Amino acid sequence: MSWHADALQRLRDRMPDDVDCVLVSEITNVGWLTGFTGSAGKVLVKRDAAVFVTDSRYTLQAQEEVQGMEVRSFAAPMVERVFLNEVAHDLAIGRLAIDPAAVSYDLWQTWVHAFSGIELVAAKPTFAGLRKVKFAGEIDRIRDACALADAAFAHVERLLQPGVRELDIAIELEFFFRRQGAAASFNPIVVSGERSARPHGVPSEKPLESGDFVTLDFGAKLREYCSDITRTVVIGAATERHEQVYDAVLRAHLAAIDAIQPGMTGKAADAVARESLRADGFGEYFGHGLGHGLGRLVHDPGSLSTSSEDVLEVGQVWTIEPGVYLPGFGGVRIEDDIVLTESGAVSLNSSPKHLMVLPSA
Ligand code: ZN
Ligand code: ZN
Repeated sequence: MSWHADALQRLRDRMPDDVDCVLVSEITNVGWLTGFTGSAGKVLVKRDAAVFVTDSRYTLQAQEEVQGMEVRSFAAPMVERVFLNEVAHDLAIGRLAIDPAAVSYDLWQTWVHAFSGIELVAAKPTFAGLRKVKFAGEIDRIRDACALADAAFAHVERLLQPGVRELDIAIELEFFFRRQGAAASFNPIVVSGERSARPHGVPSEKPLESGDFVTLDFGAKLREYCSDITRTVVIGAATERHEQVYDAVLRAHLAAIDAIQPGMTGKAADAVARESLRADGFGEYFGHGLGHGLGRLVHDPGSLSTSSEDVLEVGQVWTIEPGVYLPGFGGVRIEDDIVLTESGAVSLNSSPKHLMVLPSA
């Protein structure tokens, strides 16, 4: 189900009254708005017209992919800024809204000169959080990316045994995604033993050993949408300490998912998990935020953290990923992707959350 017409309407609804056109220049927004999957394209959006602009490398692809608007492309010796100015004049634009977060100062200066007789206006509110509330078709794609991440976790379970190196597991996750026509949405994190106390550790040649926590944080990017999941397992046998830490993180994770409601702030959501860990005596070992927005980017706009004023809305997709990291011992993080509905958070992942001790007997 395509959402591009709805996306175009949302952008128009957010258009400042005092401009007659918006230039969408950030490629993630361009893809969201049009369906284009290439790496170079811009869109001029008026209230009654829209034009997609790209160069000759993407002419055929854009004609095939871009929905609901005219496609114009240029070839050498024409350059983009001159071509954009020509299109803008064809559209009789007087004031053009620009996304200030998407242009460097240098590019801004270039455009000020290139758009002759057209006034540029920085329109931060038009673009900020534009993609935060997902359309149904986007949620379907995130759900598929989550299912693929869950399948990848099941696939590497047989590797979670003494002697297998962290990086071999990370590579296998990447191979799995590539074989399914997807890709890893970021470089997988696989850290074991004391190294699992590094929330964003890089997989090393360290082999898994009995008594290790192993944290795997990874996701798929499938049809332009990401998933991002974390599971922590124990190798060999779990001690009481392993269980104590794991149970505390799981309680915090489940408490947050249970408590999240539309209308809540990001910091209130974060506080639920933080309070839970504090009550269990691990508050000081949870140093990062509870979660982040997820969508076309692994870190889509928005955060759930101690300072987040974001207001949670139906249709937003967030990660819920509390963690506890004990230097010299190891760490645990449990991360699911959730979609916010009228009645609260619904998890999009199905991988087990009980403490898994591997290899299973
Ligand atoms: Zn993650
Ligand atoms: Zn994450």
